[in-house]
Amino acid sequence: MLDAGFLIRWLTTAAALVEREADRLTELDSPIGDADHGANLRRGFTAVTAALAKEAPATPRAVLQLAGRQLISTVGGASGPLYGTLLRGTGKALGDAAEVSEAEFAAALRAGVEAVMRLGGAAPGDKTMVDALLPAVDALDAGFGAARDAAERGAEATVPLQARKGRASYLGERSVGHQDPGATSAALLIAALADSQE
Ligand code: ADP
Ligand code: MG
Ligand code: MG
Repeated sequence: MLDAGFLIRWLTTAAALVEREADRLTELDSPIGDADHGANLRRGFTAVTAALAKEAPATPRAVLQLAGRQLISTVGGASGPLYGTLLRGTGKALGDAAEVSEAEFAAALRAGVEAVMRLGGAAPGDKTMVDALLPAVDALDAGFGAARDAAERGAEATVPLQARKGRASYLGERSVGHQDPGATSAALLIAALADSQE
């Protein structure tokens, strides 16, 4: 069963991965964006870990709602509201239980990804974070490790795609040949799930 402690470990691990990979995320955002993705997420996840350390919410939903609020209010790029919506949408779908099963978490994360797709209007293949998130939730029935692998493959598969959403879409065909920064950070978030399991 997954409790608030698991969710806190997840987001704290994600923050550490973002910190470690921030320069790479910003570099990926340079040819097809405005070179701020790593800095954006570093700011956001620093706020997330600070808020979680201060408030230590008692339910999975409360952890995700607090973290989502922090991302929305601190990130300032397109990815902030999108990741904030991912976490808040997942939390909302979890309800108020103190513990949830992995299957319940998988269903909730799918609801979170669907909320991201509604907010941003991106479909699979548009070269966005959705291209890592959706394969991950599709693989989640087979465990967090399988989801991590699927997300990584999804992020790598954005290289030949032409962006149809977000800043990279302004480049048209010139967006082809580069890995999407948001799909890359989404794969880090999913990898952190596997790292957080006890
Ligand atoms: P900004 O583009 O405002 O500088 P970031 O650099 O932090 O924001 O994030 C860019 C990432 O956000 C992209 O690589 C992409 O994965 C994701 N993104 C942008 N627009 C959308 C959208 N409409 N739907 C889903 N993801 C998106
Ligand atoms: Mg950017
Ligand atoms: Mg920006």
